[in-house]
Amino acid sequence: MDRKESVIFYKTKEEIELIRQSGVVLGKAHAEVAKLIQPGVKTIDLDKRAEEFIRDNGGIPSFKNYGEKNKKFPFTLCVSVNDIVVHGFPSEYQLKDGDIVSVDCGVKLNGFHSDSAYTYPVGEVAQDTKQLLDITKKSLYKAIEEVRIGKTIQDVSYIIQTFVEKNNFSVVRELVGHGIGKDLHEAPEVPNFGKKGKGARIKEGLVIAIEPMINLGKKEIIEDVDGWTIRTKDGKPSAHFEHTVAILNGQVEVLTTFEHIEAVLKN
Ligand code: MG
Ligand code: MG
Repeated sequence: MDRKESVIFYKTKEEIELIRQSGVVLGKAHAEVAKLIQPGVKTIDLDKRAEEFIRDNGGIPSFKNYGEKNKKFPFTLCVSVNDIVVHGFPSEYQLKDGDIVSVDCGVKLNGFHSDSAYTYPVGEVAQDTKQLLDITKKSLYKAIEEVRIGKTIQDVSYIIQTFVEKNNFSVVRELVGHGIGKDLHEAPEVPNFGKKGKGARIKEGLVIAIEPMINLGKKEIIEDVDGWTIRTKDGKPSAHFEHTVAILNGQVEVLTTFEHIEAVLKN
Protein backbone atom coordinates (compact mmCIF):
# COMPACT_ATOMS: atom_id res chain seq x y z
CA MET A 1 0.00 0.00 0.00
CA ASP A 2 1.50 3.36 -0.94
CA ARG A 3 1.36 6.36 1.33
CA LYS A 4 -1.54 8.05 -0.41
CA GLU A 5 -3.74 4.99 0.05
CA SER A 6 -2.99 4.86 3.75
CA VAL A 7 -4.11 8.43 4.47
CA ILE A 8 -7.28 8.47 6.56
CA PHE A 9 -9.81 11.12 5.53
CA TYR A 10 -11.53 12.25 8.72
CA LYS A 11 -15.00 13.63 8.03
CA THR A 12 -16.69 16.82 9.15
CA LYS A 13 -20.05 16.72 10.95
CA GLU A 14 -21.73 17.80 7.71
CA GLU A 15 -20.09 14.98 5.78
CA ILE A 16 -21.11 12.45 8.43
CA GLU A 17 -24.72 13.66 8.11
CA LEU A 18 -24.53 13.05 4.35
CA ILE A 19 -23.28 9.52 4.97
CA ARG A 20 -26.14 8.99 7.42
CA GLN A 21 -28.65 10.08 4.76
CA SER A 22 -27.09 7.63 2.35
CA GLY A 23 -27.35 5.00 5.10
CA VAL A 24 -31.09 5.59 5.48
CA VAL A 25 -31.72 4.89 1.79
CA LEU A 26 -29.46 1.86 2.11
CA GLY A 27 -31.34 0.54 5.15
CA LYS A 28 -34.64 0.88 3.32
CA ALA A 29 -33.24 -0.79 0.19
CA HIS A 30 -32.16 -3.71 2.39
CA ALA A 31 -35.70 -3.90 3.76
CA GLU A 32 -37.13 -4.09 0.22
CA VAL A 33 -34.85 -7.06 -0.36
CA ALA A 34 -35.80 -8.59 3.00
CA LYS A 35 -39.47 -8.55 1.93
CA LEU A 36 -38.63 -10.82 -1.02
CA ILE A 37 -36.44 -13.37 0.75
CA GLN A 38 -38.20 -16.74 0.82
CA PRO A 39 -37.83 -20.16 -0.77
CA GLY A 40 -38.28 -19.90 -4.54
CA VAL A 41 -37.09 -16.33 -5.10
CA LYS A 42 -34.32 -15.86 -7.68
CA THR A 43 -31.38 -13.92 -6.31
CA ILE A 44 -31.30 -11.76 -9.47
CA ASP A 45 -34.76 -10.49 -8.49
CA LEU A 46 -33.36 -9.26 -5.18
CA ASP A 47 -30.77 -7.31 -7.14
CA LYS A 48 -33.33 -5.76 -9.48
CA ARG A 49 -35.48 -4.59 -6.58
CA ALA A 50 -32.53 -3.07 -4.71
CA GLU A 51 -31.29 -1.17 -7.77
CA GLU A 52 -34.76 0.14 -8.56
CA PHE A 53 -35.32 1.30 -4.98
CA ILE A 54 -31.94 3.02 -4.71
CA ARG A 55 -32.34 4.87 -8.02
CA ASP A 56 -35.96 5.85 -7.20
CA ASN A 57 -34.59 7.46 -4.04
CA GLY A 58 -31.91 9.49 -5.79
CA GLY A 59 -29.03 7.18 -4.99
CA ILE A 60 -26.51 5.24 -7.04
CA PRO A 61 -25.69 1.60 -6.29
CA SER A 62 -22.09 1.81 -5.02
CA PHE A 63 -21.09 -1.68 -6.11
CA LYS A 64 -22.34 -1.58 -9.70
CA ASN A 65 -19.33 -1.16 -11.99
CA TYR A 66 -17.00 -0.91 -8.98
CA GLY A 67 -13.47 -2.10 -9.63
CA GLU A 68 -10.66 -1.97 -12.14
CA LYS A 69 -11.08 -1.25 -15.84
CA ASN A 70 -11.23 -4.92 -16.81
CA LYS A 71 -12.76 -6.23 -13.59
CA LYS A 72 -15.93 -4.38 -12.66
CA PHE A 73 -18.56 -5.79 -10.32
CA PRO A 74 -21.70 -6.09 -12.50
CA PHE A 75 -24.50 -5.86 -9.89
CA THR A 76 -26.10 -3.70 -7.18
CA LEU A 77 -25.92 -6.44 -4.54
CA CYS A 78 -23.46 -9.04 -3.52
CA VAL A 79 -25.66 -12.05 -2.82
CA SER A 80 -23.71 -14.79 -1.10
CA VAL A 81 -25.52 -18.08 -0.46
CA ASN A 82 -24.33 -20.73 2.05
CA ASP A 83 -20.59 -21.39 1.49
CA ILE A 84 -20.12 -18.14 -0.42
CA VAL A 85 -18.39 -15.76 1.97
CA VAL A 86 -18.78 -12.52 0.00
CA HIS A 87 -19.02 -11.01 -3.51
CA GLY A 88 -21.50 -13.59 -4.83
CA PHE A 89 -23.22 -12.70 -8.11
CA PRO A 90 -27.02 -12.43 -8.13
CA SER A 91 -28.28 -15.12 -10.52
CA GLU A 92 -31.15 -17.36 -11.59
CA TYR A 93 -30.50 -19.43 -8.46
CA GLN A 94 -33.68 -19.86 -6.43
CA LEU A 95 -33.28 -19.69 -2.67
CA LYS A 96 -34.43 -22.80 -0.88
CA ASP A 97 -35.46 -23.82 2.60
CA GLY A 98 -32.36 -24.23 4.78
CA ASP A 99 -30.15 -21.78 2.85
CA ILE A 100 -28.56 -18.73 4.36
CA VAL A 101 -28.09 -15.67 2.19
CA SER A 102 -25.86 -12.66 2.82
CA VAL A 103 -26.95 -9.47 1.12
CA ASP A 104 -24.29 -6.77 0.92
CA CYS A 105 -25.15 -3.38 -0.54
CA GLY A 106 -23.75 0.12 -0.86
CA VAL A 107 -25.42 3.42 -1.73
CA LYS A 108 -23.87 6.63 -2.98
CA LEU A 109 -26.00 9.66 -2.21
CA ASN A 110 -24.92 13.31 -2.30
CA GLY A 111 -21.40 12.18 -3.10
CA PHE A 112 -20.99 9.87 -0.10
CA HIS A 113 -21.13 6.10 0.23
CA SER A 114 -22.62 3.92 2.92
CA ASP A 115 -22.14 0.15 3.10
CA SER A 116 -23.93 -2.56 5.06
CA ALA A 117 -24.64 -6.28 4.97
CA TYR A 118 -27.11 -8.68 6.58
CA THR A 119 -27.33 -12.47 6.52
CA TYR A 120 -30.77 -14.10 6.46
CA PRO A 121 -31.90 -17.63 7.17
CA VAL A 122 -34.24 -18.93 4.45
CA GLY A 123 -37.00 -20.97 6.06
CA GLU A 124 -35.67 -23.37 8.68
CA VAL A 125 -31.87 -23.60 8.93
CA ALA A 126 -29.62 -26.00 10.85
CA GLN A 127 -29.01 -25.19 14.52
CA ASP A 128 -25.27 -24.57 14.13
CA THR A 129 -25.92 -22.27 11.18
CA LYS A 130 -28.47 -20.33 13.22
CA GLN A 131 -25.81 -19.89 15.87
CA LEU A 132 -23.30 -18.74 13.24
CA LEU A 133 -25.68 -15.93 12.23
CA ASP A 134 -26.28 -14.97 15.84
CA ILE A 135 -22.60 -14.87 16.80
CA THR A 136 -21.57 -12.99 13.64
CA LYS A 137 -24.18 -10.31 14.26
CA LYS A 138 -23.27 -10.07 17.94
CA SER A 139 -19.58 -9.73 17.02
CA LEU A 140 -20.46 -6.69 14.90
CA TYR A 141 -22.23 -5.00 17.81
CA LYS A 142 -19.42 -5.86 20.22
CA ALA A 143 -17.01 -4.28 17.74
CA ILE A 144 -19.13 -1.14 17.49
CA GLU A 145 -19.06 -0.76 21.30
CA GLU A 146 -15.28 -0.84 21.10
CA VAL A 147 -15.14 2.11 18.66
CA ARG A 148 -14.13 4.83 21.12
CA ILE A 149 -11.75 7.74 21.08
CA GLY A 150 -8.32 6.59 22.26
CA LYS A 151 -8.84 2.96 21.23
CA THR A 152 -7.17 1.64 18.08
CA ILE A 153 -8.50 -0.05 14.98
CA GLN A 154 -7.09 -3.39 16.06
CA ASP A 155 -8.69 -3.11 19.49
CA VAL A 156 -11.90 -3.44 17.46
CA SER A 157 -10.44 -6.30 15.41
CA TYR A 158 -9.33 -8.09 18.57
CA ILE A 159 -12.83 -7.99 20.08
CA ILE A 160 -14.33 -9.59 16.98
CA GLN A 161 -11.70 -12.31 16.78
CA THR A 162 -11.75 -13.29 20.44
CA PHE A 163 -15.56 -13.36 20.64
CA VAL A 164 -15.90 -15.41 17.44
CA GLU A 165 -13.16 -17.88 18.31
CA LYS A 166 -14.50 -18.34 21.84
CA ASN A 167 -17.68 -19.53 20.11
CA ASN A 168 -15.68 -21.95 17.92
CA PHE A 169 -16.22 -20.19 14.62
CA SER A 170 -13.44 -18.80 12.45
CA VAL A 171 -12.50 -15.40 11.08
CA VAL A 172 -11.72 -14.87 7.40
CA ARG A 173 -8.33 -13.18 7.12
CA GLU A 174 -8.14 -12.04 3.49
CA LEU A 175 -11.10 -9.66 3.52
CA VAL A 176 -11.46 -6.69 5.84
CA GLY A 177 -13.59 -3.70 6.75
CA HIS A 178 -12.53 -0.26 5.60
CA GLY A 179 -12.74 3.49 5.81
CA ILE A 180 -15.59 4.90 3.72
CA GLY A 181 -16.68 8.31 2.43
CA LYS A 182 -16.28 9.82 -1.03
CA ASP A 183 -14.80 6.46 -1.97
CA LEU A 184 -16.38 3.12 -1.14
CA HIS A 185 -13.08 1.79 0.14
CA GLU A 186 -10.74 4.17 1.96
CA ALA A 187 -8.07 3.80 4.62
CA PRO A 188 -7.85 2.41 7.21
CA GLU A 189 -8.31 -1.32 6.74
CA VAL A 190 -10.40 -2.80 9.55
CA PRO A 191 -9.46 -6.48 9.92
CA ASN A 192 -11.64 -8.89 11.85
CA PHE A 193 -8.59 -10.24 13.68
CA GLY A 194 -5.75 -8.38 15.33
CA LYS A 195 -3.72 -7.35 18.33
CA LYS A 196 -4.79 -4.93 21.03
CA GLY A 197 -3.18 -1.50 20.71
CA LYS A 198 -2.17 -1.91 17.04
CA GLY A 199 -3.38 0.11 14.08
CA ALA A 200 -4.51 3.71 13.77
CA ARG A 201 -5.86 5.47 16.83
CA ILE A 202 -9.59 6.15 16.74
CA LYS A 203 -10.48 9.83 16.67
CA GLU A 204 -13.22 12.32 15.86
CA GLY A 205 -14.42 12.16 12.26
CA LEU A 206 -13.36 8.56 11.62
CA VAL A 207 -15.89 6.73 9.42
CA ILE A 208 -15.43 2.98 8.94
CA ALA A 209 -17.37 -0.02 7.71
CA ILE A 210 -17.02 -2.88 10.17
CA GLU A 211 -17.85 -6.22 8.59
CA PRO A 212 -17.12 -9.53 10.28
CA MET A 213 -17.03 -12.40 7.75
CA ILE A 214 -17.27 -15.53 9.86
CA ASN A 215 -17.07 -19.19 8.87
CA LEU A 216 -18.79 -22.13 10.53
CA GLY A 217 -15.81 -24.35 9.75
CA LYS A 218 -12.24 -23.41 8.92
CA LYS A 219 -11.03 -19.92 8.05
CA GLU A 220 -9.58 -20.74 4.61
CA ILE A 221 -11.25 -19.41 1.48
CA ILE A 222 -11.03 -19.94 -2.28
CA GLU A 223 -11.92 -17.70 -5.22
CA ASP A 224 -14.19 -18.81 -8.06
CA VAL A 225 -13.14 -18.53 -11.71
CA ASP A 226 -15.43 -15.48 -12.09
CA GLY A 227 -12.73 -13.55 -10.20
CA TRP A 228 -15.18 -12.29 -7.58
CA THR A 229 -17.01 -15.03 -5.70
CA ILE A 230 -15.25 -16.04 -2.48
CA ARG A 231 -16.17 -19.40 -0.93
CA THR A 232 -15.12 -21.30 2.14
CA LYS A 233 -12.55 -23.93 1.26
CA ASP A 234 -14.31 -26.59 3.35
CA GLY A 235 -17.71 -25.85 1.80
CA LYS A 236 -19.31 -24.95 5.14
CA PRO A 237 -21.52 -21.86 5.53
CA SER A 238 -20.25 -18.33 6.12
CA ALA A 239 -22.03 -15.25 7.52
CA HIS A 240 -21.52 -11.52 7.06
CA PHE A 241 -22.95 -8.53 8.88
CA GLU A 242 -21.80 -4.95 8.29
CA HIS A 243 -22.49 -1.44 9.50
CA THR A 244 -20.97 1.91 8.59
CA VAL A 245 -20.10 3.80 11.80
CA ALA A 246 -18.57 7.15 12.72
CA ILE A 247 -17.08 8.99 15.63
CA LEU A 248 -19.25 12.10 15.94
CA ASN A 249 -19.14 14.46 18.92
CA GLY A 250 -16.84 12.01 20.68
CA GLN A 251 -19.25 9.08 20.42
CA VAL A 252 -19.73 6.18 18.06
CA GLU A 253 -22.76 6.50 15.82
CA VAL A 254 -24.10 3.81 13.54
CA LEU A 255 -24.85 5.48 10.20
CA THR A 256 -26.47 2.49 8.54
CA THR A 257 -29.49 0.74 10.00
CA PHE A 258 -31.06 -2.71 10.31
CA GLU A 259 -34.22 -1.15 11.76
CA HIS A 260 -36.17 -1.41 8.48
CA ILE A 261 -34.94 -4.95 7.82
CA GLU A 262 -35.93 -6.08 11.28
CA ALA A 263 -39.39 -4.52 10.96
CA VAL A 264 -39.88 -6.71 7.86
CA LEU A 265 -38.55 -9.83 9.61
CA LYS A 266 -40.93 -9.37 12.54
CA ASN A 267 -43.96 -9.67 10.24
MG1 MG B 1 -20.48 -4.21 2.22
MG1 MG C 1 -17.70 -3.00 3.14
